[in-house]
Amino acid sequence: MTRYPHLLEPITIGDLTLRNRAVMGSMHTGLEDWFWDVPKLAAYFAERARGGVGLIVTGGYAPNKRGWLKPFASEMSTRLHAERHKQVTAAVHDEGGAIALQILHAGRYAYTPFSVSASATKAPINPFKASALSTRGVDRTVSDFARAAGLAKRAGYDAVEIMGSEGYLINQFLAARTNHRSDAWGGTAEKRMRFPVEIVRRTREVVGEGFPIVYRLSLLDLVEGGQSWDEVVTLAHLVEEAGATVINTGIGWHEARVPTIITQVPRGAWTWTTAQLKQEVGIPVCASNRINTPELAEQLLADGTADLVSMARPLLADPEFVNKAAAEREDEIITCIACNQACLDHAFRNQKASCMLNPRAGRETELVLMPVMRPRTVAVVGGGPAGLSAAVSFAERGDRVTLFEKSTELGGQFRLAMQIPGKEEFAEALRYFRRRLEILGVDVRLATEATESSLAGFDEVVVATGVEPRMPSIPGIDHSSVVSYADLLTGSAVAGKRVAVIGAGGIGVDVAHFLTHDPTETTEDWLAHWGVGDPSMHRGGLTEPRPREPVREVTLVQRKTSMIGRGLGKTSGWAHRAVLKQAGVAQVSGAAYRLIDDRGLHLTVDGEPLLLEVDTVVVCAGQESVRDLYDELAGAGVPVSVIGGADVATELDAKRAIEQGVRLAAS
Ligand code: NAP
Ligand code: SF4
Repeated sequence: MTRYPHLLEPITIGDLTLRNRAVMGSMHTGLEDWFWDVPKLAAYFAERARGGVGLIVTGGYAPNKRGWLKPFASEMSTRLHAERHKQVTAAVHDEGGAIALQILHAGRYAYTPFSVSASATKAPINPFKASALSTRGVDRTVSDFARAAGLAKRAGYDAVEIMGSEGYLINQFLAARTNHRSDAWGGTAEKRMRFPVEIVRRTREVVGEGFPIVYRLSLLDLVEGGQSWDEVVTLAHLVEEAGATVINTGIGWHEARVPTIITQVPRGAWTWTTAQLKQEVGIPVCASNRINTPELAEQLLADGTADLVSMARPLLADPEFVNKAAAEREDEIITCIACNQACLDHAFRNQKASCMLNPRAGRETELVLMPVMRPRTVAVVGGGPAGLSAAVSFAERGDRVTLFEKSTELGGQFRLAMQIPGKEEFAEALRYFRRRLEILGVDVRLATEATESSLAGFDEVVVATGVEPRMPSIPGIDHSSVVSYADLLTGSAVAGKRVAVIGAGGIGVDVAHFLTHDPTETTEDWLAHWGVGDPSMHRGGLTEPRPREPVREVTLVQRKTSMIGRGLGKTSGWAHRAVLKQAGVAQVSGAAYRLIDDRGLHLTVDGEPLLLEVDTVVVCAGQESVRDLYDELAGAGVPVSVIGGADVATELDAKRAIEQGVRLAAS
């Protein structure tokens, strides 16, 4: 008996039998775009196939040039393209896996001046305005989708996925918001649906019976003028009749102002819509978005919400996700914490995607931890993200590692991050590292301050002593109302009802959220705050947001005059800024700090004095490196390296810290 009988149960879709119901969802890695990256892409997918996943879906490939996501982006339109893909499909098949090619036409999301859409419109997230496809152009585009599917079959793919969600071209045809046509492809809901239905129908003609066609359907558009629920259900019936084998589900257009996959989205927040759709269709339905554990996947399959479960980032984070679940080693899974820091933030910045917790992801051929010939003794000082990563990576190579941590617990900045509402997933990262240390037999010494003498005799020393909060020299900084963010988040200080936050970087924004958040908030409340309503009553699933009731009055202050939260993550920053607005957090930019006293925080703004009458002042003014030990050891000629915040405190983030740890061990 297994703990995951439903997840591990095979399923037959068309002529294809999948070994289990775990699907690695589509995600663009940046390895798709250039032919010289094909061997890396093959290695990336092969590692995931070896890890046991049932079906892999590639990143999106355009059916023609007008469908490119950006100039010279991935495309499947010629026999030469198909030929190159044989290396990828063979690598996956050699590992016993199955792989589908996703066909994605970007429409008005294409980052090129040559983009096309149903009508001449511009997406709010793209500087380029699309031109309208001619009636013949629409017909040609439909044929291009079908041709791409035929080429995928020729390349050895086991299936295709037609990307009909997230606001790309197919959605743009489906929604009155973006389809203003009056020809055979627009004007009424039925005519707007012709585009995807014809794509599926002609694709079926080209690939023949039995070849699986997955259609990714947008369940909730989450934009004004999106599809109504009746239209979504009608479309599902029509694509089923036209020849789709599976319906995968998507939530929200990229331009939607509701977060759908970042950490603050509760796990499984959207699966209720999948369950509703499943009642309507006869073909298998796949759930997606914020499903990141085998337990949740199993539950969704067991309770009949879905027939398959798609997980994109979780399989990026841990290629062995399925094998670990099957072996009931789920506590060894690198759980995706939905931070987007190294995956989607990279993809949207035109960089290659990887994973913050697993920097080897997407770099399988480059970042290799080769076993050492002669194990060395390695001391790692500091049990935060950098130290944990280094300790695990050196031990994975076969070195004998001792990890010194001054406090009584491992985790460093992770321990603070996991206190932030919606960032509780950081606890999973810590659980993973702890378990790895245990399995690898790392000698962990808690409550132990390493010194030059206790480190004598180690072949190599890695200093990862982290950072300490910066306390700026403002008159009154020693006042009893002043606390550091670290004291606040660890619970050693408690804030009053009226709070000023000094510093509006990533941590200041997080702390403002922490201070205003109502800890009793449920998933239903979360959806209501973001204005997500019952799609059968509200078109696109959007309704009037329910106001938040902040538990404190908070003012966020910075010296810069730029917009607060500007430097936050590309794909998540807007949502953090929106939460502050929802919670009524006041913001003061361009401030000079004058004094902190019994009355509160005294500022000068635009040359005028301003007093914030507050009970507590929380300091989030960045950090300073803690590197005395490193300086001491280096001065004494000890072979020592420094990584993480102890190396550079500015713009420190866990992504850099973890990657430094792995790279140091690999080198
Ligand atoms: P940070 O982003 O560098 O922000 C610290 C802020 O403190 C600065 O924006 C600065 O703003 C202010 N400051 C600096 N020196 C000061 C001084 N002497 N007196 C008064 N104010 C001062 O650092 P952080 O907020 O501590 O975050 C640390 C790292 O974690 C960053 O890399 C951050 O991106 C990352 N992080 C990101 C997120 C996220 O993306 N959601 C969340 C948490 C942490 P002014 O100079 O304008 O006052
Ligand atoms: Fe998940 Fe973050 Fe890794 Fe992306 S970078 S796969 S969101 S843990």
